[in-house]
Amino acid sequence: MNLSKIVQRQSGRLDLTLQKARYSLRRRFSHSDEQQILKQYIDELVPKDRPRTVVDIGAGNGVRWSNSYALVLEGWNALGIEADTHKYDLLSQVYRRFPNAKACHRRVQPDSIKTLLENFDVDKDFSVLCLDIDGNDYWILDAILSSFRPRLIVTEINEKIPPPIRFVVKYDPAFKLRHHFYGYSIAALADLCARHDYGILRLEYNNAFIAPRELAGERFIDASRAYEQGYRNRADREKRFSPNFDVDVLLSLSPEDGVEFLRQFYAKDEGNYYLGIKPEDIPNHTDVNTTLFPERSPQTSRIERPTVTFSSTRTQPCPICRIGAAPKTLGAATLGDETFFDLVECESCGTRYLSPLPSAEQLENFYEPQYYGSDWFKQRGLGSALAQLDLAKREPGNFLDVGCGLGFFIDGVRSHSKWRVFGVELTTAAVEFARAELGLEVSQGELSELEYPDAFFDYIQMHNVLEHVRDPMSLLKEARRILKPNGSLHLRVPNGIIDSRDLLKFFRDRGVPPFSKSGHLFFFPKRALLWMFAEASLEIAEAHTYGIRRGLATLGLWPRLKDWKRHYLAKPFGSNGANPQISLPREKSRPPFYYRYRMIRMNSRMLSGMREFGLDYQIVLTPK
Ligand SMILES: [Zn+2]
Repeated sequence: MNLSKIVQRQSGRLDLTLQKARYSLRRRFSHSDEQQILKQYIDELVPKDRPRTVVDIGAGNGVRWSNSYALVLEGWNALGIEADTHKYDLLSQVYRRFPNAKACHRRVQPDSIKTLLENFDVDKDFSVLCLDIDGNDYWILDAILSSFRPRLIVTEINEKIPPPIRFVVKYDPAFKLRHHFYGYSIAALADLCARHDYGILRLEYNNAFIAPRELAGERFIDASRAYEQGYRNRADREKRFSPNFDVDVLLSLSPEDGVEFLRQFYAKDEGNYYLGIKPEDIPNHTDVNTTLFPERSPQTSRIERPTVTFSSTRTQPCPICRIGAAPKTLGAATLGDETFFDLVECESCGTRYLSPLPSAEQLENFYEPQYYGSDWFKQRGLGSALAQLDLAKREPGNFLDVGCGLGFFIDGVRSHSKWRVFGVELTTAAVEFARAELGLEVSQGELSELEYPDAFFDYIQMHNVLEHVRDPMSLLKEARRILKPNGSLHLRVPNGIIDSRDLLKFFRDRGVPPFSKSGHLFFFPKRALLWMFAEASLEIAEAHTYGIRRGLATLGLWPRLKDWKRHYLAKPFGSNGANPQISLPREKSRPPFYYRYRMIRMNSRMLSGMREFGLDYQIVLTPK
């Protein structure tokens, strides 16, 4: 951990202690009087004879500005969800003392919130929802109310925008808060409430209290009244919300002029929001719903309006079979920074994958040069062993290693054979090393960008690559194109069912997205692999299974290490060393036959065929 992180963490803890102390003095934690208001509504609306549960989305550190902490102290069941790693650390520390409180580290998304709450056994009509995530609140609330019916909700609105102006920031999974640009207006909240048969109880500055009609119908007030009482006419508004001075003019403009003002004010974000005066100015909810929740049965359709497209990959076809468009969300995972992915399963081909897939940039950041150097002499030893054992039986030709890292494997092949060796690698630093230090022909980029001639290679090695790339199907097809008719493609790929099993178990047990170690994006079951090979016009010449013990251990059929979960704890980017230089550990000296012996031993431990209980497959493919 670096110094600034330590300082940040320590000051966070101190802050937390002070906040707790302040709480015990004032008995109050939230922004203003929300906590008392909440308490009053709870007394009046939430049945006392049933388990009491609060879900706090955007829970922060659990204490500061928290509407739920008082309820946690009273022993309520609590689920606190927080995306920020640092705040989450503090949140889980606070919750540790309360057996009924669970903390979850997650950036919530509309299409997975239902599954998330269900995974935590949250009842359909749970007691209280606190929602404050400074971003996609509107879409999250809409998604929750489509499946749950909380008794009382306190949710943050964008208080700057008076009714009847409807304003909603478009759904964006990677939303970042900008000056006055976030969330939604109270008029948009009123429309959303009406669709779900909820209503507004009151507004307290920027926090709206809402409840279902069957509990509080007679107490509902309209958006204008709530806004007048709760924000516009409050004596201390200008003092308390002084940063709003540059948009306060909205309070005196006509709705039409207000809309025009906002268009200019949000000019930089044009296209990223909905804005208007009538409920219809926010897109038809039915369209939004069917796009966002394709698995749900369509509701009776209303007036035709343009379909809204979301940047989520949920609505796109499966990246493998291109058929399944409604994958099932099984859990979540992270690649180690603060980005979380859904782990979904295609219902057509069974492939599991991270959704939305990470960008090329995110991936390049993931693979640091350090990732490659650790076993360089082993790589070189195994390369020379392959040359002496397998390649010696064939006429020398062109050898390609896809995902060659620093190039030590092909360096080993070259040194013990007459084969001409090539490498492909994504990471710039590794490519530069292979070229400059080892004098290898290594190309940088994705295989399909490199345009090798048709039928050029006799032997293509692709070890543990398919599960790491964003488009595995195109990669296989490209390998097929550049393979000679009598050439062979040597693949190693994990059995996705076993490989994803511990990730899902970790997520279920801890409620924290596991670290997809080594950066696996795809988890292919056997049937998906067979389909992919056929689709790429490749035929299986040989198939073996290895990693049998690890496979059996995952299935609970073999003893496993007690601390297996350790590997799934997220490590921040750069944790393997911030040094961008490639440094190689000292070579371990081995007798000349050592790696040949290792290769023979490894092969002898494999079972023939693709066995579903093994962790890894080694497959030799030839052109059909
Ligand atoms: Zn599929």
